[in-house]
Order: sequence, then structure tokens, then C-alpha cells
Amino acid sequence: MKIIMLGAPGAGKGTQAKLLAEKYQIPHISTGDIFRANIKQGTELGKKAKEYMDQGLLVPDELVVDLVVDRVAQDDCAGGYILDGFPRTIPQAEALDAALERSGEQIDRAVDVEVADEHIVSRMAGRRACVGCGATYHIQHNPTKEEGICDHCGETLILRDDDQPETVRKRLDVYHEQTQPLIDYYRAQGKLAEVDGAVPMDEVFDAIVRILGE
Ligand code: ADP
Ligand code: ADP
Ligand code: ZN
Repeated sequence: MKIIMLGAPGAGKGTQAKLLAEKYQIPHISTGDIFRANIKQGTELGKKAKEYMDQGLLVPDELVVDLVVDRVAQDDCAGGYILDGFPRTIPQAEALDAALERSGEQIDRAVDVEVADEHIVSRMAGRRACVGCGATYHIQHNPTKEEGICDHCGETLILRDDDQPETVRKRLDVYHEQTQPLIDYYRAQGKLAEVDGAVPMDEVFDAIVRILGE
């Protein structure tokens, strides 16, 4: 099962992708997590990506496409995967489709998690992220057992630099301009599934599983 998660920043893509990866036992591939890991390690890719991420802008397509195309060609992706945060532009989606087509494969479903902009800024202010394992929490909606400590790996949680309200607004603009057109792109392919992301997390999860199958 090859799944793409679509939705605005903060819609809950990462939260749902992690749950789905566990349920279906397939890898969760988050380009945001890959960039943050590179930033933490101080790699060249990380340095380049950070310049864009800090401004709420997308990292250029040429820095992300090959990375994902290589990742989904690895052995652990043979039974499918969940892409979270990729594609984010039409050229990225076209490059992915073209690469899959070369090996006779295709994406099965694009799941759009819908949340209105006015909810997003407050959601992001409460988001806490683990730099160790990529888990995300929310100070009200999904708190950790011990404040500031990741339930999964024990590392300390951070408020991401790009989750400040100013940057979130910029990211929303970028989303509407560059990423939202993907909804029509996957609808035209007959692959789009839309779910309401404004309901509690377990309800969003159940709605997605109803679409993807048990
Ligand atoms: P969110 O979970 O809030 O949607 P991500 O963790 O997916 O955010 O991404 C954080 C930042 O990383 C983005 O704002 C963007 O700068 C960069 N990024 C992640 N994925 C991509 C991509 N596919 N194309 C371009 N930039 C990306
Ligand atoms: P994305 O990957 O789309 O940027 P996240 O999965 O990181 O979004 O979720 C953004 C924030 O909102 C996190 O703090 C997360 O815990 C919280 N969140 C996710 N889904 C829900 C939901 N259904 N209701 C309330 N808060 C949610
Ligand atoms: Zn962790």
C-alpha cells in the first residue's frame, strides 16, 4: 500500500502517518523529519534546507525529489510506505509518478486531512516535537506522560522554530499556493480520499482506516 498524506501544515499528517505505519507495518517517510535530522547532524543538505525552512518556504524541488525517489526504492519499502510531507508541489508529484512508472508501480491513495486555517495557528503553538524520533505531541490534545519528555524515546521535546505564529502564517500561504493544487492532481487520478481533520485524532484515524481497509 503506497499512501500519500496531504494537508496543511499542522493538519495532523504526521500524527496519522505514524499510526498508519504501525497498523499496516510499513515505513513512515517524512521529508520534514529527514531535513531536521540532517540539520541536527550538520550535513550540507541540512544547511541548505534550513535556510528555507526557517523562513517558512519550501526547500527547492531538486533537493528533495532524488532523496525520496531513492528512499522508496529501498528494500523496506517493497510492501508499501506512507509519504508524509511529500510531494508538496506539482513538479514533485510528477517526478514521483514518473519514477514509480519506470518500475511499473504507482501510488494507491492520497489522503487529504482537512483543517481550516483558523485552527492551524493555535494547533501549532501547542505542538511539541521530539528531535530524537520525530514524534509529535500537543500540550492539550496529546500530552506526554512526563512534561517535555518523549514517551517513545525519552529525548527532550522542542517547540519548532518554524511553529512560531509568524512563520506558520507564511507556511499556510505557501501551502495554498504550491501544495493545495495537489488535491486536484490526485482527484483527477481517482486517488483522492478526503477526511475531516478537525475531529479528535482517533476519529480521524478510524475514518482513514475505513477508506484504506482493515
Ligand atoms: P509540517 O509537518 O508542519 O507540515 P514538515 O515537517 O513536513 O512540516 O516540513 C517542515 C519544512 O520542511 C517545510 O516547511 C519545508 O520548508 C520543508 N519541507 C518538508 N518537506 C518538503 C518538500 N517535500 N518539499 C519542499 N520542502 C519541504
Ligand atoms: P502535520 O504533520 O500535518 O504538520 P501534526 O501531526 O504534527 O501535523 O499535528 C500538528 C499538531 O496538532 C500536533 O501538536 C498534534 O499533536 C496536534 N494534532 C494532530 N491531530 C489532531 C487532532 N485531530 N485534534 C487535535 N490536535 C491534533
Ligand atoms: Zn522521541
